[in-house]
Amino acid sequence: MYPIRFFLRSYFSEITMNANESRIDKALKIAANASDYKVCEGCDSIVSIGSVLCPNCHSFRFDESRTRVISQAMLLGSREQNSVTASDLM
Ligand SMILES: [Zn+2]
Repeated sequence: MYPIRFFLRSYFSEITMNANESRIDKALKIAANASDYKVCEGCDSIVSIGSVLCPNCHSFRFDESRTRVISQAMLLGSREQNSVTASDLM
């Protein structure tokens, strides 16, 4: 039998990998369906087009332009990628 620590470690490393993957995946999905989203003017987070208030900062001002949504999605995706690269180097 494998020690429980082995299971825990592989379990958590899998979660971390999936989290990073899903962040980039999500950014690509948002960019592909940019008209379904808008960018919060208060905190730059991407919210669904149906949202009335930003869930992060409760702002009600949004930029609904497609180019803004796409550039913001790419920024968030690449930011995540950069942080992964940086932590790999440490
Ligand atoms: Zn916000």
